[in-house]
Amino acid sequence: MEADPSHGRIIDQVPHASKEDVNEAVDSAREAFPAWSRLTPADRANMLFRVADLLAQNSAEFARLESLNSGKSIKQTTDYDVPYTVDNIRYLAGASRTLEGKAMAEYVSDGTSAVRREPIGVVGVITPWNYPLMMVAWRAFPALAMGNTVVVKPASYTPLTTLELARLVEKVGVPKGVFNVLTGPGGEIGEALARHHDVDMIAFTGSTEVGKRLSELGTENVKKISLELGGKAPFIVFDDANLEAASEGAVVGGLVNNGQDCANATRFYIHASVAERYQKMLVDRLRKVRVGDPMVPKTDMGPLVSESQRDRVEGYIQKGLQEEGKLVYGGGRPRVEGHEGGYFLYPTVIFTNNHASPIVQEEIFGPVFTVLTFEDYDEVIDKSNEVVYGLGASVWTKDVTRAMNAVRDLRFGTVWVNDHVPVPSEMPWAGYKQSGHGASLSAYSLEEFTYIKHVYFDLTGKTRKSWYYQVYGAKE
Ligand code: NAP
Repeated sequence: MEADPSHGRIIDQVPHASKEDVNEAVDSAREAFPAWSRLTPADRANMLFRVADLLAQNSAEFARLESLNSGKSIKQTTDYDVPYTVDNIRYLAGASRTLEGKAMAEYVSDGTSAVRREPIGVVGVITPWNYPLMMVAWRAFPALAMGNTVVVKPASYTPLTTLELARLVEKVGVPKGVFNVLTGPGGEIGEALARHHDVDMIAFTGSTEVGKRLSELGTENVKKISLELGGKAPFIVFDDANLEAASEGAVVGGLVNNGQDCANATRFYIHASVAERYQKMLVDRLRKVRVGDPMVPKTDMGPLVSESQRDRVEGYIQKGLQEEGKLVYGGGRPRVEGHEGGYFLYPTVIFTNNHASPIVQEEIFGPVFTVLTFEDYDEVIDKSNEVVYGLGASVWTKDVTRAMNAVRDLRFGTVWVNDHVPVPSEMPWAGYKQSGHGASLSAYSLEEFTYIKHVYFDLTGKTRKSWYYQVYGAKE
């Protein structure tokens, strides 16, 4: 049953797939694989372009459905989630025609070699609730573009746009069995996919905890596993930073997607000499954030996705305050007229210098800004790296040398300088450490969904090659 988190009301129902449905979907994907994988990249790309075109034509409806089901503001889904997803699909479809293999003759005397990239087979795609539509584009579409077939399991809170997308895929004529969707609990359906011997790869985006579980389950048939997991991004403000820009960027970095983004700025390391001034600028801006009905165009921040997610975030706020944290702003639930059952929460700022506190170390996945101070470069880099995650980080300074040193020293898959959040379709999005491995977007994500095959060609036409004596017979 799918809820509208701005009311807490049920808005739709989707099937609870059975184990038999999992087997049927995998069989169907397996059957469709040979023909789909033998199409030219251009033929596949043309179909995927048509999906992107249809998505663009229906963008208002997808934006509405995504906001309704997830609580994201309608301005975010209209101007970011949907058009960006269209761009992601177009990029991946086009780029799939450009991948090259190496051809090299210089390493051997009697032959030459080439590298082929070939699809892996049936890919199980398991997606999270925070970007329901976009994460399908990031994980299923590079797989499809490279000739794999997919079985997608969307998050239970937010399956609606994935199901609509499946209708578009069918409409453009993608053959039956190439793109399958199963709805139901991750512990059952996700695990069944991860255990299935006819699933060749799992592409998972979600929490680190479930990512670890899937790594274990996949070992039985040595599945390839690509993991895009949690984050805990540092946002480092040096003493020479443009503080206006750094406070404006903090609101955006901290609150994008209602604070439920794996790249959200969450740990704000502010140089001690500017900390007081900066904190005031940040709070002044947060006061202007309009929390409310996500379907109203001027709303900046809608509700969190579910009651349990709000409970979890509030639990972290309490823990942070118990462990030496000082509440600077927010901390409570706003009253939103007409939405009394909604899961709203104010953006919340907590000041602490207890680096071991759970609000500093763990992924909260909510609109909570933890502000800390630092004195010097080495200290802030060490602290930034001192968490298990390594997804995104940002550095705010006018000093190019300092920025470039930080880019090198921060153990994160993306480092922004004087901004936080942008991820163009052409650039990789990948984790370090427990934020996972493998990449989304860019040509690297296309490679992720291929095996590499070495092909060796004899160039001599001789019965005995020059090196055969090493195994038997005499050297000629
Ligand atoms: P989650 O709890 O890990 O769930 C993600 C998906 O896995 C859902 O479809 C879920 O199904 C399924 N699942 C749950 N338990 C499973 C199991 N035992 N076996 C197989 N599948 C299982 O994550 P979430 O709460 O939806 O999403 C938030 C997390 O995603 C955060 O940690 C965030 O950082 C991460 N994320 C990372 C990226 C990235 O690019 N690195 C992007 C977006 C989100 P149910 O919904 O049915 O439980």
